[in-house]
Order: sequence, then structure tokens, then C-alpha cells
Amino acid sequence: MPQQSNLNAIYTYDICAVIIVGLILFSLYFKKLHHGAINKSFIVLCFVVLLTTLADLLGLYYSKPETIQTITPFWFYAFQSSYFILRCLNIPVYAVYIIICAEGWESLKKKSFLSKILFLLPSMLIISCLLINPAKPFMFEHDPVIGYHRLPGMLLMYVHAVIYMVFCLIIIMKYRHLFSRVVRISLISMFPLQIAAILIQIYNSNLVIEMFATSCAILMFTVTIQRPELLINWELGTNTKHMYFSDLKRLTSLKTPATILFINIKNYKDIKNYLPREKLIIVLKNIYAETLEHAPHDFRNAEGYYLDNGLFAILNAQVSKQSAKKYADILYVLYSQPAVLDKLEIHLVPQIGYYDYPDDIGEYHELISFIQSFSSLMPPNAKTPVDIARLTSTKNFRLRNEIDSIVADAIVKEKFQMYYQPIWSVTKKKFISAEALIRLPDEKYGFVSPEIFIPAAERSGAIYQIGDFIIDDVCRFIAREAFRKSGLEYIEINLAVAQCLQPDLPEKIRTCVEKYRIRFSQLNLEITERETIADQALFDRNIQKLADMGMMLSLDDYGTGYSNIQRITAMPLDIVKIDKSFVDKKDEQSMQTIIKKTITMMKDLNKEIVIEGIEDESSVDFFTNLDCDFIQGFYFSKPLPEDAFIEFCLSRNVQ
Ligand code: C2E
Ligand code: MG
Ligand code: MG
Repeated sequence: MPQQSNLNAIYTYDICAVIIVGLILFSLYFKKLHHGAINKSFIVLCFVVLLTTLADLLGLYYSKPETIQTITPFWFYAFQSSYFILRCLNIPVYAVYIIICAEGWESLKKKSFLSKILFLLPSMLIISCLLINPAKPFMFEHDPVIGYHRLPGMLLMYVHAVIYMVFCLIIIMKYRHLFSRVVRISLISMFPLQIAAILIQIYNSNLVIEMFATSCAILMFTVTIQRPELLINWELGTNTKHMYFSDLKRLTSLKTPATILFINIKNYKDIKNYLPREKLIIVLKNIYAETLEHAPHDFRNAEGYYLDNGLFAILNAQVSKQSAKKYADILYVLYSQPAVLDKLEIHLVPQIGYYDYPDDIGEYHELISFIQSFSSLMPPNAKTPVDIARLTSTKNFRLRNEIDSIVADAIVKEKFQMYYQPIWSVTKKKFISAEALIRLPDEKYGFVSPEIFIPAAERSGAIYQIGDFIIDDVCRFIAREAFRKSGLEYIEINLAVAQCLQPDLPEKIRTCVEKYRIRFSQLNLEITERETIADQALFDRNIQKLADMGMMLSLDDYGTGYSNIQRITAMPLDIVKIDKSFVDKKDEQSMQTIIKKTITMMKDLNKEIVIEGIEDESSVDFFTNLDCDFIQGFYFSKPLPEDAFIEFCLSRNVQ
């Protein structure tokens, strides 16, 4: 701030401030960080700070006794007043930036006229004082001898600053749950930096350091809040998933109604597999650009996000369902046309849905988990966009949203139970084994399918506790006297991929086997191949260790699309389980050929074969004639609780 004329002000800090803010603006421009209200308000803040610093430099230059002579009082007041006016705009602009970070632009726009006036009042009063000052100086004056001369009225500037600081602090505290700790600290950092600068200036009035302190605070925001890599997907020009989560957090915390459109490219994985990366980016970029280009008028201010794996979200202030449907219809037609890239025609399979917050989905965690389940919840062959309100009322949707808490509750309350489905040995003509299948009874949803809760548990990490329970409970069962008498040789346990990637899995099983004094050969572990396994080497190492310990291994669900014949030969497998989807098509001529050849091939590779999902006698005969080793299915029995299963085996194995 310009000081009294006897100072020999040091400009260096102001020059540094200009360089810092200038560079920040430069980088914002080149990183295209100018979309969205937060970025825009940040740019305005940077500009105001830059102009203030430039005005400060000008004011300082013409406030010295040797330079003040060179300008008329008019220009003196013009320069000094411009600086002070800009200076007193700094904090309100900063306050607006905080409000937009917390509440968003829409909510700011909706504030009443009175609250807007009240907000601007302190600044308006100071600006009026500064405009009156040249006529009747009471804040500063033009002194041709000593240069710039400060008057007691200047105290008003500090009162004004304190009012806005308190206001900003209240806003930051009110919305603290919306900001991470580092963001909170950096937003507040403006105040200690300003206070420190004022104190330094009181101590050494030559150090003109206030704007430098402000520029340091701005730099701090750039590093912590305006982090482009978190906010913007450079390649596509969309907002990121991180940004989507933080916008949803704000939305739900302020209960701001919104309409959200989801655009999913269902065949994204296939496209990704055959398109080179640069081309894939172009396809996605075009999808996003066209989505925005075709936005109807009431979606003009919508924010677009890329949520990975071919899924986009468009977030807008709430509009009518008809309007959302109209937009979704346009997009549906658009993406149903093949995208042409060079000479390639790329066929997209769009899944588009729209819903309202909070009417259709009303909780933050539901909005988040909806991203996971969107694709599976949408009707598989939807030919038109889907009003998601129709899905959210379904039991399946509610179950999928609550699945994590259902699983957590089941772990605490020990609700899981193991059921056993008998497996018929064709050669021995009796039941010598069974598959252990987990069951989760829930008060509200009845038996929850493992096909829903196992993948959810893999995502949440609960699979490790569930897996430990399964291994322990099956070993306990095998150790029972009743099991020994039943004539059963071994039990098959399903291992989730996440379990196979547990480095201590072999040791865990060893501990259980020793605890119940059973034999490794009484366990058969069913593993499932997946397209991508996070750590293939660890997976293979674990599998080899389990085999070396003397356990049998089965490959589950052969024929569902993931099994790779090279891997099958490389893995120490004893049994291959042919999936029900094969069985279902056994009457088709071509499928019969495939089944016969598959069985012959597996036999040549010394693998035994289990056929799954056999529901009728003709299928039993069909596969028995094809030389299959084992048959499993509802034809013999559904999975049974422990005692019922033992009873079943005792009664059936006697015959
Ligand atoms: P899976 O391992 O392929 O298990 C066979 C599934 O087919 C079981 O469904 C079984 O009840 C069902 N099934 C058996 N015979 C027939 C039949 O004749 N007709 C029909 N329609 N279905 C039949 P379930 O118990 O619902 O399990 C589904 C999947 O969940 C399992 O597929 C497995 O991947 C997973 N799972 C089940 N229990 C466990 C477990 O204890 N651990 C792990 N990691 N996964 C499990
Ligand atoms: Mg299985
Ligand atoms: Mg299976």
C-alpha cells in the first residue's frame, strides 16, 4: 500500500507479485482451465489481483516527492484511488470465489437482491469514500512537498477488510465438510498471509508486501484447489470423475435439484481393444463435443464429465423430464449412427439414461454407486433412452445401492451360510463331491444372490473376511464325523479373483486344514479366469503353491468367454467345469460339435470334466454318453444346507 512520502518504497515484491499472478494466468490459459464457474471466478480473482498490483506500482511511483511533481493532483488522485478501489474489490471477489467453490454458481445467482446488496455494501461505501476523497481528503491527500500523505480515514479500509474476512471465514466454516483439509487450509491461508504482510509493513514501512502476500495465497490455491489434473481431462476436454464426485457432494449437501444424464458406450471395451489409443481418444472427444453441440437451450450451462470406461455424465440445473428426454433422444439417434474415423466405421452401442436429483436418486452414496451399476441396471437392449426413475423404484436397484452396507452388516452379524450342491460322479455312479456355495439371507431382500454381493465385496474389500469365513466353515464341515460317513471325497470351494491375489492365501488355507485336521486332498479350489487380472504373476504363483500343497484345482465357468486355452494348459488344473451356457445350447447342431470337441480336447489334456447346470434327465444321458466325469445341476439337487446335504448324500449313495 502506498505509504507516506518519506519512504523509500521497495517495489521488488510488487514486481514479484505481477510475475507470479501473470504466470498463473498464463498457465490457466494454456491449460484451458477456463470452463466452469469455479475456474471463471478464479480467473477474475487473478485479474483483479494483477490489476491491483499494477495500480499499486503506478501509485507508488507517483507518490514520491521527486515524482509527484511531474503529475497534476488530478492524476495523482486518479492513480491512488484506482489502486484503493481495486484493493477493496480483492476480498469481495475472493469471497465470491469461495462461495462458488462451496455452493456453485447457480446457488449464487439465486441469492436475493437484498443479500447481494448487503454483501456489496461495505465495498460500495468505501468506493464512495474514495470517490469523495479528492474533493475533501480524509483518507489520503496530495502533498506537493512530502508526496503521498495518509489521513486517519484510511482506517476504514482496514475495517472493510476485517468485515469481509469474517464473512469469508464464516463461509469456509459453514461448508468445511465440502472442502478437504488441504483446501480448507489453503482458503484460510489468505488471512494470515494478509495480516502478516500488514504487520511487516507496520514494522518496516519500506516493504510494500501486501500484494505479494495476496499473490502467494493465489499461488497456494493454484497448487491445491485449481489442480488441473484433478479437474480437467485434457485429452477429452471434459471435467474429471474427481470433479464429478466433488460436484455431487456439493449438490447433495445443499440439496440443489439437478437433472443428470448418463451416456454409456456399452461396447467401449470392444472398441478399446481394436482401436489405437489416439483414435479412441478422438472418438471419445467427438462424442463429448457432439453431446455439447446438440444440447438444447436449457442444458447450455450443463457441466460434462468423463467417468472412465466409456461413461459420460452431464449435470444440469433441474429441467423437466420432457426436456431431458428430448435431449437424450437426440443423443441416442446421434450415437446410433456409426462414427467415421479415417476409413474406419465405428459402431457405438449407446445406453442413455436420465434422472433427477433428489426425486429419483436422493443420497450421495446412491449417486456414487449408481456409476458402478448403471450399465448392468439399464435394460440390455434398450433402443431408446431410459427414464432412470423407472429403475430406481425397483427392488434390484435398491438392493444394489445398499449392497455394501448389507454385506458389512452380514459380516458383523455372522449371517453368511454355506450351502452344498452335490456333484454326481459318472464313473463311480455316486455323489463323491459337492460345490460349496455361499448364501446371504437378508431380512429385507431374502436370499441375496452371490452374483451381486461377491463382486461388490471384491470392490469394497469385504471379500477377504468373507473368503476366510468360507474356507474355515468348509474345513469345519469336512472335519465332521457325518461328512466322513457320507462317502464324500472332497468339497469344491469357489475362490474370487481378489482372493487368489492374496499373498497369504496358501498359508491361510494351511492353517485351516491343520486346525481341523483334514487333508489338502479333501479340498478342490474353483478358480475363474478373467480378462484382466491385476497381478497375473502373483495369481499364477498362488495357484501353483496351492497345487503343490496337494489341493485339486478346477477351472470354473469354462465357455463364458474369458477362458484362454493357452492358460488352461499352463495352469495346474485337475478339472474343467463346463458352464451352463454350453449346456443350454446342446440341442443346436453346431454347439454339439463344439461340446464334443471341447470334451475330447480336455480329455487329451488330462483334465476331468464337470458339466454344470444340468436340469433334466435327457441332459444327464447326453453328457454321460459323451464321457464326462461329473455332472452337477438342479436335476440332482439344488444347493442344500449342511445337514440336508449330508442326508441327501447318505440316502442317495446307498442305492
Ligand atoms: P458358479 O461357481 O458357477 O456356481 C454355480 C451356480 O449355478 C450356483 O449359483 C448354482 O446354484 C447354480 N446352479 C447349479 N445348478 C444349476 C442348474 O441346474 N440350473 C441353474 N439355473 N443354476 C444352477 P449361485 O449359488 O447363485 O452362485 C452364483 C455364482 O456366485 C457362482 O457361480 C460363483 O461364481 C459365485 N459364488 C457362489 N458361492 C460362492 C462362494 O462361496 N465364493 C465365491 N468366491 N463365489 C461364490
Ligand atoms: Mg463354481
Ligand atoms: Mg460355474
